[in-house]
Amino acid sequence: MTNPVFSSLPTSIFQHITMLALKHDALNLGQGFPDEDGPLSLRQVAAKQLLDGPNQYPPSKGSAVLRQAVAAHAARFYGLSYDPEDEVVITSGGTEAVTAALMAMAGAGDEVVMIEPTYDSYRPMAEAAGAVVKSVKLEPPGWRLTEDALRAVVGPKTRAILINSPHNPAGRAFSREELEVLAKVVSGTDIVVICDEVYEHLVYDERPHVPLATLAGMRGRVLKIGSAGKIFSLTGWKVGWVMGPRELVSVVTKAHQFLTFTTSPALQLGVAHGLTHEMDFPIQTTRRLQKNRDILAAGLTKLGFAVQPCEGTYFLTAGISKLTNEKDFAFCERLIREAGVALIPLSAFFKSGTPDSYVRFAFCKQQALIEQSLDRLEKYFAKQ
Ligand code: GLN
Repeated sequence: MTNPVFSSLPTSIFQHITMLALKHDALNLGQGFPDEDGPLSLRQVAAKQLLDGPNQYPPSKGSAVLRQAVAAHAARFYGLSYDPEDEVVITSGGTEAVTAALMAMAGAGDEVVMIEPTYDSYRPMAEAAGAVVKSVKLEPPGWRLTEDALRAVVGPKTRAILINSPHNPAGRAFSREELEVLAKVVSGTDIVVICDEVYEHLVYDERPHVPLATLAGMRGRVLKIGSAGKIFSLTGWKVGWVMGPRELVSVVTKAHQFLTFTTSPALQLGVAHGLTHEMDFPIQTTRRLQKNRDILAAGLTKLGFAVQPCEGTYFLTAGISKLTNEKDFAFCERLIREAGVALIPLSAFFKSGTPDSYVRFAFCKQQALIEQSLDRLEKYFAKQ
């Protein structure tokens, strides 16, 4: 007998689409990974450490130099103060950080509230821990978070709320007002908010990123998650972190010690270098991606896609009902085969499988690839 949480799951939608894209030689605007590696200096620091060593286990909670750099980054960008000794834990990427935080906060029968569309790893990992997932469904157009929707699912059994801010796959950067609503709903309770902020530097149109922990009364109940893969376009490195009040972080650290125990020392050193010396990189990346977003949004609108607001992340969502009667999965599979462009069907992120007339585009690619994809789509739809 296997665990039904996993045995009932399909292969991850990202793997599925990437495999199909490779098979049909399609341009991949599906899985969200940059097609250019981040700064050379991080890689040089990591490579030197790999050659010179030591290459033995760093401390389970992370190398001191990286914990210090992570805390300094939060202070520099948001004025948040965390003690690198016991309020920061380094994880093997954002996904492990979320899992460790979920396992640390919720066990059998506890309720965890998540925002739908929900990033694919969240629900199974909470359910594997025995927790019951309650969803707040964001509705198109706009994918906005409302007080009524939150209040409808938050109750006495809620142990934690997991929010991705900026949000993948919706491409939303929740506004201060929306986050204030969340703060209001949890105030006076003992609910912990796990705030996955891996796209913190990818917020567009000069909007500031608002970490939930900076709102009044929130620092003491927020576990703030970050990722070097997203900050430095090094998604394969899998270096992330969790910050929060020491009473909560100490428990996350215990979950982490049995998930992966620790993370490559060379990569930790490389990331510490990046957070200290290469913070211009994410700022430039954001400018570049904003331009890609604009080119993509304009091109898709011209083709008849109902482009949704995109304020942050690598992703833009768009409705397809003007273009087809098919469901999003069939539409995406057809476009891979016939147009040579790969996208992600958004229904993959909803438990009910609806809405099923939206798709997600990843624009964390070189501008030429975005233009080439639009060109292929335009030629394809012109023939229909
Ligand atoms: N975060 C990436 C995305 O949303 C996928 C990562 C993965 O394939 N697990 O596209």
